[in-house]
Amino acid sequence: MLRRLSIRVRLALLGSAVSALVVLGYASLAVTFLERGLLDSLDQRLVIDAELLERSLLWDGERTRLVGAVEARPGAGFEDSLWSEVVDAEDRPLWRSPSLGARRLPAASGRAFAGREFRTASLAGGVEVRLLILSEPIDGKPAVLKVARATEPHHREVGVVRTQLFLAAPAALLLALLGAWFLAGRALRPVERMREELEQVSAEQLSARLALPPARDELSKLAETVNGVLTRLERSFETLRQFTSDASHELRTPLAAMRAELEVCLREERPAAEYRAALESALEEIDRMTQLADQLLVLSRHEASRAEVALKPVDVRGFVANLVEELCVLADEKQQDIFPEAGRPLFALVDEELLQRVLRNLLHNAIRYTPREGRIDIGVNRDGDRVRIDIDDNGPGIAPEHRVRVFDRFYRIDRSRSRELGGTGLGLAIARSAALRMQGSLEVGDSPLGGARFTLALRAAEEGA
Ligand code: ADP
Repeated sequence: MLRRLSIRVRLALLGSAVSALVVLGYASLAVTFLERGLLDSLDQRLVIDAELLERSLLWDGERTRLVGAVEARPGAGFEDSLWSEVVDAEDRPLWRSPSLGARRLPAASGRAFAGREFRTASLAGGVEVRLLILSEPIDGKPAVLKVARATEPHHREVGVVRTQLFLAAPAALLLALLGAWFLAGRALRPVERMREELEQVSAEQLSARLALPPARDELSKLAETVNGVLTRLERSFETLRQFTSDASHELRTPLAAMRAELEVCLREERPAAEYRAALESALEEIDRMTQLADQLLVLSRHEASRAEVALKPVDVRGFVANLVEELCVLADEKQQDIFPEAGRPLFALVDEELLQRVLRNLLHNAIRYTPREGRIDIGVNRDGDRVRIDIDDNGPGIAPEHRVRVFDRFYRIDRSRSRELGGTGLGLAIARSAALRMQGSLEVGDSPLGGARFTLALRAAEEGA
């Protein structure tokens, strides 16, 4: 229920609830202290009352009865609001104040009473009193003095204070609520300002950033985090925009070529062989577009699937040897020599489909960009906890300034040459994303053969695991 309210209302309610609890605790503590203080002063008064009583009584001639020495003296145990009694050790009355009438004051607890005792008790007729019982010899003869006063006046006093506190409570609560509402509003103002600033940000205006508050506080950290998110969003929007424009450009080029060729062909009547040639060329362009669409699909699948790929140990040397056997037809066409490294099995943790994809792309490129009668070497070696696959060629190589970007989508060093050779510019992007999905890496460098060296590093698996 509280969760549905705005933060400001919640803060105000919680703040005033806490203040109310503190005030309540403080008030009840104050009332308790007041009560105790009043009781203490009543007890002190009873001590004085007892002293006065003791001084104002005398034994009669036979020393069996007590009489008031100065009965007329006010404040000496004869007031209406004071009840007093003197008894012997068996609680037999020796003297009683006129205010008591027929009533008796309660006896001391325990027999053979000596010393003094304060007690709150009830008299007949329901009057609550504070009672002091004191064992004190009068004129040398042992006696027990009892003095009592009604507790009602001090209850009344406490009651008045309690009522005043109770009446002031709503006003205090309202004040606390207003204060908390005001403070919560002030505390949340920067958040509101931030919200307004963020409202200005849209997909078209992702370059806007939040102004950082001067203090290094929670809000400035929040603003920094939001700015970080905006930067990442802007970057990925930019990548997406670039990708869309590249992809449409890549699709438009073959379409335009096809259209031009078909238009020229249809302009006049031609021999059947020319139509055939035009259709074959159109088919080629369609193949290229299909390849492009397939590769785009592969890339987007790699990106969409967040799930971890299940890796299993595979003998990479054997895997490479099999793949080379399959691809050596292409190398033969260009009279290239292709040498996979032989040796005992070497296991790495891979997904066979992804590994196939990386190696195919790298080997296709090596064959494609290495001139006729070139050479391609494939080394498979253990390097610490990794298995390295180096694909070397003696082609033109990749200059250092292109090495970072060569893995970007649609990046080609020589656009027309790549197109001529049937490339789409997506091969290395797909290869790297496949390598990353296997928790591996793919780098490019110089080859000892003089051309490019692509190195795929994979997690090594213990043999036979
Ligand atoms: P493409 O489809 O154009 O081959 P890739 O992503 O596979 O696209 O490669 C990107 C670019 O990297 C290629 O256009 C080419 O210029 C360069 N490249 C890739 N492999 C090699 C290689 N073995 N030797 C020289 N250049 C290469």
